[in-house]
Amino acid sequence: MVNPGMAQPRQEIWYHTGYPGGVVGPGSGVSALTGPTKMPAVFEAIWRNRLIDPEKIHTDSPALKKKSPPAAPPIDLESLREVHTDRYLKALFTGEPRCLATSQGLPTWNENIARGWLLNVGGLYAASKAALYKKTITGNLGHGYHHATVNRGMGFCTINGLVVVAQKIIREAKAKRVMILDLDHHEGNGTAESIIGESSIWNVSIYGSYMGGPPSAGNNHVFQIRHDAFEQGTKRDAHYLAVISEILPSLIRLQNPDLVLYQAGMDPFDGAGISNEALAIRDAYVFSLCRSMGKPVTWVLAGGYADMETLVELHLGTVRKANEVLMKVKAGDRIKHRERKPYSWFPQNGAICFPDWKSLIKETLHWNEPPSMSNSQIQEFVALRDQLHREEQLPKDEIASAYRRLFSIKP
Ligand SMILES: [Zn+2]
Repeated sequence: MVNPGMAQPRQEIWYHTGYPGGVVGPGSGVSALTGPTKMPAVFEAIWRNRLIDPEKIHTDSPALKKKSPPAAPPIDLESLREVHTDRYLKALFTGEPRCLATSQGLPTWNENIARGWLLNVGGLYAASKAALYKKTITGNLGHGYHHATVNRGMGFCTINGLVVVAQKIIREAKAKRVMILDLDHHEGNGTAESIIGESSIWNVSIYGSYMGGPPSAGNNHVFQIRHDAFEQGTKRDAHYLAVISEILPSLIRLQNPDLVLYQAGMDPFDGAGISNEALAIRDAYVFSLCRSMGKPVTWVLAGGYADMETLVELHLGTVRKANEVLMKVKAGDRIKHRERKPYSWFPQNGAICFPDWKSLIKETLHWNEPPSMSNSQIQEFVALRDQLHREEQLPKDEIASAYRRLFSIKP
């Protein structure tokens, strides 16, 4: 709840009505259509519940009747080419070959869907810049698309917006180091494949379900939680939160990122039986930890396949916790773990008190950390990725005209 006696939250979010690309689909279940369908639902729920002032919602939506700042433009071609191959991008822009344009799993391709991907990443870039400049928390009501890899889509993910934006921000010298923090139930394999060897970007993926990505490397930190070690309920929740709070602070201290891009996945709910209370306090913890360490955060919607009403409420938990943390936590606050109730947190004398989840479960933590790649393996990996870019390179005019044509076609 927003306390009217306190300063209003300063969270800004981005949402363009073109993000879903006109795709509508089932309101629940693991489907390529669930993701696009939930974006407008979450946007409307934020607006309907007045969780964020219209002046802080960057959108083209007529629902806000010109009270809002404009949505962001689509991401530029050069930033896309830094991460994805030309052959793949041309397929996304033109729909041909169709099997490549739909390699993420969507049943169809059209120009609206293609424009939606680019608008989505454009919004993430704008939100990230705002977080950096204002040293705050911002959100993009699009997806991170962490399974998308260098030359094809996967798992409903088309363009790896997290990596495109992290690289662009580094290239433009807006930040020296960016952390991609991925707490989706599924491993961020596409992110890992795209960033290994690029020391300024770290991928931290704490997941339940392995998706075939590479092992840990200097800048890739992957951890698989063994949810099945505990029965569903408070103990499994506490274990999940204990693992995150055990791993995350030291990695943030070690990398010292200027910006955290947070893939706030909600599918531990339906994928691992983690409760909505646990996911809400997870986000309160992530935002509090980053804010107390002076790290700006931009969050994105990520996986979640419960029924739409439940799903929207889960994502609203992220919005609410970002608001609360902006009001309650400031840089320099200490994070303490001493509260006994598993889902309770509060500020107290310059500290933010969270539960001591580890002592609540009274057992060792269950997670697998795969072996790290050696330096020569990393070099080989990077060389193969560079080779892929060269092999799939197209004349600049050819890819540029495909990009331009996409935006000259009226929806
Ligand atoms: Zn997922």
